[in-house]
Amino acid sequence: MPVPPPRERLPFPYRPESEAIAAAMASLQGALDWPRVIETATPWVEQVRAHPAPFWAMESLLREYPISSAEGLALMRLAEALLRVPDAETAVALTADQLGRADFDGTGDDGPHKMLASLSASAIALSKKFLPGAEQPAGLLQRLGARTVVAATVRAIQLLGRQFVLGRSIDEAMKEAAAQRKAQPVLRFSYDMLGEGARTEADAERYLASYENAIAAIASGRAERGPLPPMEGDGISIKLSALFSRYEDAQRDRVFETLLPRVWTLVERAAAANLNLTIDAEEVDRLELSLDVFDAIAERIAAAFPQWQGFGLAMQAYQTRALAVIDEVAAIARRHGLRFMVRLVKGAYWDGEAKRAQELGLPAYPVFTHKHHTDVSYLACARAMLGHADVLFPQFASHNAGTIAAILQMARAAGVPFEMQRLHGMGEGVYREVLKDGSIACRVYAPVGEHRDLLAYLVRRLLENGANSSFVHQLADPAVAPAELLASPLAPTELLASPLAPTAESGLPLPAALYGPTRPNSAGADLACEAMRAPLLAAVAATRVPAVTEARPEDSAAAMARLAAGFGAWSARPLAERAGALRRAADLLEARLPEYCGLLVKEAHKTLGDAVSEVREAADFCRYYAEQAEARLGEQRLPGPTGERNTLRLHGRGVFVCISPWNFPLAIFAGQVVAALVAGNTVAAKPAEQTPAVAERFVALLHEAGVPEDALVLLHGPGETVGAALVADARTAGVCFTGSTQVARLINRTLAAKDGAIVPLIAETGGLNAMIVDSTALPEQVVDAVVQSAFRSAGQRCSALRLLAVHESVADGVFTMLAGAMRELSLGDPALLSTDVGPVIDDEAFANLERHVARLRAEARLVGETPAPAAPAVPRLVAPVAFEIGAVEDLREEIFGPVLHLLRWSGDVEQLVARINALGYGLTLGVQTRIDSRAERIAQLARIGNVYVNRNIIGAVVGAQPFGGEGMSGTGPKAGGPHYLYRFCAEQTLTVNTAAAGGNAELLAGLGH
Ligand SMILES: Cc1cc2nc3c(=O)[nH]c(=O)nc-3n(C[C@H](O)[C@H](O)[C@H](O)COP(=O)(O)OP(=O)(O)OC[C@H]3O[C@@H](n4cnc5c(N)ncnc54)[C@H](O)[C@@H]3O)c2cc1C
Repeated sequence: MPVPPPRERLPFPYRPESEAIAAAMASLQGALDWPRVIETATPWVEQVRAHPAPFWAMESLLREYPISSAEGLALMRLAEALLRVPDAETAVALTADQLGRADFDGTGDDGPHKMLASLSASAIALSKKFLPGAEQPAGLLQRLGARTVVAATVRAIQLLGRQFVLGRSIDEAMKEAAAQRKAQPVLRFSYDMLGEGARTEADAERYLASYENAIAAIASGRAERGPLPPMEGDGISIKLSALFSRYEDAQRDRVFETLLPRVWTLVERAAAANLNLTIDAEEVDRLELSLDVFDAIAERIAAAFPQWQGFGLAMQAYQTRALAVIDEVAAIARRHGLRFMVRLVKGAYWDGEAKRAQELGLPAYPVFTHKHHTDVSYLACARAMLGHADVLFPQFASHNAGTIAAILQMARAAGVPFEMQRLHGMGEGVYREVLKDGSIACRVYAPVGEHRDLLAYLVRRLLENGANSSFVHQLADPAVAPAELLASPLAPTELLASPLAPTAESGLPLPAALYGPTRPNSAGADLACEAMRAPLLAAVAATRVPAVTEARPEDSAAAMARLAAGFGAWSARPLAERAGALRRAADLLEARLPEYCGLLVKEAHKTLGDAVSEVREAADFCRYYAEQAEARLGEQRLPGPTGERNTLRLHGRGVFVCISPWNFPLAIFAGQVVAALVAGNTVAAKPAEQTPAVAERFVALLHEAGVPEDALVLLHGPGETVGAALVADARTAGVCFTGSTQVARLINRTLAAKDGAIVPLIAETGGLNAMIVDSTALPEQVVDAVVQSAFRSAGQRCSALRLLAVHESVADGVFTMLAGAMRELSLGDPALLSTDVGPVIDDEAFANLERHVARLRAEARLVGETPAPAAPAVPRLVAPVAFEIGAVEDLREEIFGPVLHLLRWSGDVEQLVARINALGYGLTLGVQTRIDSRAERIAQLARIGNVYVNRNIIGAVVGAQPFGGEGMSGTGPKAGGPHYLYRFCAEQTLTVNTAAAGGNAELLAGLGH
């Protein structure tokens, strides 16, 4: 099928929240009589509270241990990890860790922790309920050893999980559904085959088969129940992320080539059986892509199954564009002459969306940030859906009694068919009451899967149920009166007494305000958003890299003379002026994001995503050092005896030589230069030979921002000549260098050999960076982190991952998944949005990498490799590759490219850390474990500058993760950290004897007080 061009279907996702909510409010004018909502819902609430859930139910557990408490968090984290741990020893360590008992040694002398007791009691109670015959007298619990308690906890979590899963297989789930339908005939089911999103083609094919199998089973079940329209029968919900590992906007072509046919296979089967198939709603950055896929499938349905009305999708009301989505889906239906089943949800990824917007420095959140705004949006969407009932069958998924009562009111007024929906294991009490009115239909979203597959789902539900703002959580809290619980979201003043009270325009600080009022976060771009990426792509296409004139040998001396002369005036400028120039530079950089991205892609072969991050990092450096300078470099009064005034002052040292690498030609270059400048130095800046154009453009920008010409001079040329001359110059007052350890040593020796002042060298060099993975880690999360850390920027970051050490008990699984994920990477021209890995920097780097890979092919076991394109569009592409090696020590030198070494470890993790330390480098380290104390212990033992737990190990953020290592990785202080600027300064104390003029006037004047 030809790939349709992206359509601009929806408004800009990052509008101010007030604008979106005003539209939603306006659309609800006169639609609801809220006192009547309260009247309808209050008896439901009272009834549910009169019949509380049994003590072992999830609601009870979360009431006692909300996720905001240490115990609740422990429960959630145990639930997420414990069941996948293969060995008893680690399971004990994890349980002990999460339950906060460092001395949990299995003797049981102390008696179980309160929570453990509760969990285990739940386990025992449930064991009795589900497994008749399992005998465990409660008194025995006191004497149970660690393993038994862990086993009980595992059991408790399995049973907790079961509350949310209808069955382990589709057959089991359908049997359970039939049993439930006997008690409540109005129930319909939508089955969901559980699992993490696919990371590999093998995963995707497995999910496809499992969906196919489920559709066949539901179809045969339908046959037994007789012919029902899809609205009334059972159906299936599918996740597109399960069917293709690269279901991302940037991989649009592949989504249409690979994912679309898979979805069509399922749609054809569902349509042939006349049952409903709904596409779940996932992350916001996939929304437009999902609508494109939906539209393309609808077009095929219109041709092949025009009568079928079972196709549908879920829509999230928490999105600020939700109303537009509904109109768009209705428009698609009308365009194709179809009718869809549309499920309205509030949205399950709120926390993740908020984090992503902050990390990317987006102008606003794509989701509402006040809970009552989401509720209002939900009602506005519901009204819109009811208005499109000719082409949509509205399905309202909520467990919130107020929301449900409001929907019923509006739906009845509209007089159109609809249904309510709930998740299996949630909202049962409320719906027991709601469904007493026999005219209301209700569909249950019914997850199906084994324990291993339900963990991520279980955590989502625990978060949802445990969140303070959640209706379910508040319903379980008798302290929240029904009137408060059911307060109108349309009249926020009524909410003032409630914890949901609105406090500000945004419920979270906007991404720009992340670092407080004095330093704005740098503005970024969402490359999944057409309006934001279009100017960047246009700039990349238009960019030609200008030639930069090389410095002649005599230029270095002339520049040094000029900079030495300029030092006095620049260092005498008030701090605020120097800082002001940096802030102006940051603003200019942001305003010229497309221009700089174009240069970075064309000159340094960065992918667009990397280019955006780099411009942001440069802007962050400017603002951070401006702020730090003002906070730290001003005059300080020091204590002393009476009659004496002591002051500490810092000032620039003179001419600083800044030598930077090609791999961050803007960010590292900018960081060095502006730090030196703001401290009062003048700067001779020598960029890498490969990337002078970016540097030259930035130097011009600094001049424009107010840095005088004689305070900053760019000298482009070879390190061996230009760089060496600058370092050797007698006027050099300090050197800031980022690059290889060998060159840092050369610089160090040159400086040491000089007569005259001994000057500081700030060197940031390479690393042999490792990631330690134990058996509690989530393999999918590990693989995501490894792929980003090892292969992003073609592995050409000093922070990049070189050694992945995985515990032997899980190594096979992790390596296989990693190999599968590597096969899905795209290698090619960095100017294309779809490219994950671009070329390496130059021919020399390419040849070195080829040699190293050839040696590894002979000496080590090849585990994974990205296929190289048949006809490479650009030269110097090195395909990401991973080899298993036998020992940490086999790693001898830093290989600066997409080459990853894999290792299995066993035994004591502390010994592994010692061996990594012994490599002598100390830049970055990754730890993937759910055992917090283990992560903490590893970090303590590691002689490593940047340790990252349960995430990737690249992309240090200025001010948040100051960057730089120890040992052979650098001298410190860390770039982007609070100690950096001091190293660029000379210090002076000024001590004045204030009693010199014959007496201590100050002391005497104070005597009378
Ligand atoms: C049948 C069914 C199918 C589902 N399918 C999907 C799906 O495909 N995709 C998906 O994402 N979810 C899906 N969900 C999950 C759904 O999003 C949650 O269950 C739902 O949000 C809970 O809403 P509620 O009305 O029951 O609870 P409430 O407690 O009234 O609302 C909770 C919701 O409010 C939102 N919220 C919480 N705090 C804030 C805040 N500070 N600012 C703004 N909003 C906030 C969150 O979205 C949260 O989920 C589905 C749920 C059901 C019942």
